[in-house]
Amino acid sequence: MGEGLTLVLRLMPLQIDEEGGDMVCTYLIILGIILLVLYAVLYLYNKIVVGKKVKQHPCKYCGHMVNAVSQCCAAPVEEKFMAAKCSKCSKPTKTVCATCKRDLY
Ligand SMILES: [Zn+2]
Ligand SMILES: [Zn+2]
Repeated sequence: MGEGLTLVLRLMPLQIDEEGGDMVCTYLIILGIILLVLYAVLYLYNKIVVGKKVKQHPCKYCGHMVNAVSQCCAAPVEEKFMAAKCSKCSKPTKTVCATCKRDLY
């Protein structure tokens, strides 16, 4: 047990030295943390700020950007790839124009 631990402790500083020194390691770690924080901030920004807004869609009948709502409850829709879900009844729904209630797609 004692011998094994000494061996590990001896090997560890050597491995770090071979990778180019503590400075480079620290720099890379800091850079990684900064990137992770930026990614997390962007992700949260999208979730909180953009997620709360009702998404705007161009309506070909109204001719301008309109709020998109679900066909069943006229509630905001949670949009997913190739599908939309009603935020009120949680059922798959069609996305319709909030003004003229016609299909947006
Ligand atoms: Zn419309
Ligand atoms: Zn609904």
